[in-house]
Amino acid sequence: MNYRCAHRWAFTQWGGALAEKSDELAAPAGHEVTVRVTHCGMCHSDLHIQIGGFDMGGGKLSSLERSGTKLPVTMGHEIGGEVVEIGPDVSSVKVGDKVVVYPWIGCGECPTCLAGNDHTCPRAMRNLGLQAPGGYADLARVPHERYLVPIGTLEPARAATFACAGITAYGAVQKLAPPTAEDYVAVVGCGGVGMTAVALLLATTKAKVIAVDPDPAKREAALKYGAVAAFDPTQADAAKAVIKAAGGNVAGALDFVGSESSVALSTGVVRRGGQVVIVGLFGGELRMPLPMFPLRGLQIIGSYVAGLNELRELMALAQRIELPQIPLTLRPLKDVNQALDDLAKGRVVGRVVLQPDAA
Ligand SMILES: [Zn+2]
Ligand SMILES: [Zn+2]
Repeated sequence: MNYRCAHRWAFTQWGGALAEKSDELAAPAGHEVTVRVTHCGMCHSDLHIQIGGFDMGGGKLSSLERSGTKLPVTMGHEIGGEVVEIGPDVSSVKVGDKVVVYPWIGCGECPTCLAGNDHTCPRAMRNLGLQAPGGYADLARVPHERYLVPIGTLEPARAATFACAGITAYGAVQKLAPPTAEDYVAVVGCGGVGMTAVALLLATTKAKVIAVDPDPAKREAALKYGAVAAFDPTQADAAKAVIKAAGGNVAGALDFVGSESSVALSTGVVRRGGQVVIVGLFGGELRMPLPMFPLRGLQIIGSYVAGLNELRELMALAQRIELPQIPLTLRPLKDVNQALDDLAKGRVVGRVVLQPDAA
C-alpha cells in the first residue's frame, strides 16, 4: 500500500452526496503521523455537517462555511487505525501502533490546547472530519502524535467511537458538581451516548440515576444498567413524575437531545441550584423567564465533546469497567452514502462503523 495516496469519500457541495477521490499526502513533517484507518464511526452530527450547519431555531441554520469549514469536506471524526508513517520528530508512537485519534484539534499552541482542551481552543479549529480531512478515507493525517491514544485491550471498532460518542458522554458527566449519594441525576435521551452516560454516572459517581426516553426498550435497558426509575417524556406530567421519584432532589439533568421540549423538561426537573448540561444538538431555541435563573440559582451548561485527557481517562476506564455494549454495525466505507441515508431516516440502531478496507 502507498501511504502517501489517500482514497477518501468527500462531498464537494453542501448537502451533496459523497464521492470517492484520491490525493497525494506529503511526507509527514515534524510531529505529524499518518494513520491507516481501519474503523471510522459514523456520527449523527455528520448529517448536520453534510448540510452545512445546525438548526439554530426560528428557521435559522448555523453556517459551517462561515466558521472556516471549506469544501470539499471529508467527514469522519471517530477514527481508529494503525500508525503507518511518522514524521522525523515523532517519539511517543511507532509504526504499527494501534490507536484511536483525538479529532478535536485546535491551534495546538495556545494555553487551552497545551492543557489538552483543544476542543475549546479560542483561536483556530482544525477538527478532523470538518476543517481538516477525517476518517472516511483509508489514510488520515494527524498533525501531532499527542492526539493518538493507544487502543490497548479494547475492541478497535468500539474504541473508535470513544473519540466522539464516548467522550461526549464522559465530558457531560464531568461537568456535574460531584453528586452525593442523596442526589439524583436525570439522563434525558437514552440512545447510545445517553446510555453510556447512565453507565458512567453509576460507575464513577454516587448519584442515583433517572432515565427519560420515549422508547420503552431504552427505558428498560437503563433500568437494567441500574437506573432507579425511568419515564416517558411524552406523558402529560413527565416532569412531575421525575421530581416525585427523586423526592425533589434532582441535582442535575444531562440532556442528550437538546430540543426545545427536552430542555424544557430538563430545566423543569432540577432542584434549586441544579445543573442542566445541554449536550444534544437537535436544535431550537431556549425561551425562559430570566428571573428563574437567579431565583432558582439555575446553571445551564453546554457540553461539546471533551478534552484529550478525558479521552485518555475514558479509554483507561473502559479497560477497567464494563461499559454498555452499544450495538455496532460494521459497513464498508464504499457504502457511506447509503449508511448516511439510513442514519438520517432513523434506521440505525446503535452506531455504524465504516471500514475502508472491507469489500
Ligand atoms: Zn460526533
Ligand atoms: Zn489553541
